Amino acid sequence: MTVTDEVIQLMMQRGGAAYFGEPVSQREHALQCAWHARQAGSPRELVLAALLHDIGHLLHGLPESAADDGIDTLHEIAGYEWILARFGPQVAEPVRHHVAAKRYLCRVEPEYLARLSPASIQSLELQGGPFSEDEAREFETLACYREAVMLRRWDDEAKICGMAVPALEEYRQMLNSAWPQYCSL
Ligand code: FE
Repeated sequence: MTVTDEVIQLMMQRGGAAYFGEPVSQREHALQCAWHARQAGSPRELVLAALLHDIGHLLHGLPESAADDGIDTLHEIAGYEWILARFGPQVAEPVRHHVAAKRYLCRVEPEYLARLSPASIQSLELQGGPFSEDEAREFETLACYREAVMLRRWDDEAKICGMAVPALEEYRQMLNSAWPQYCSL
């Protein structure tokens, strides 16, 4: 199976699950997020990062209500490792830091925190809450910090019920640019 088939299979088989606490499925959320990245004129790697940023939720096998039970599923780490092996660091790094980017934005933009959805505020607590001033400065030293913040903003906007966006099939060619040596057979 190619990496492209693997992504499409995961999204089709498990992506119909609700994005917990939001009015969209995981697949709708991924497609909306990727669409925002495309609209912003992002390079291929960042569009793929947007499309795949929550793939960890489809991998871990924990119920989507985990946050209700006080569990941080660390989906960004599972997703990072999975993506790194298949698409390399430029796609994987913004995904790894997209939760940290939320904690960062909560520190540097009080109005950002005020706009978060109830489900996102609930998971923020489990993720460690807003960064301290020192943590925020350290976050800004990451090579991918701008990309992680952009991804985070698209992530937050990608929760609109019924929004018409391009289908998963439209990303086939882009997905085919996965590192071929890592395609699982
Ligand atoms: Fe997300």
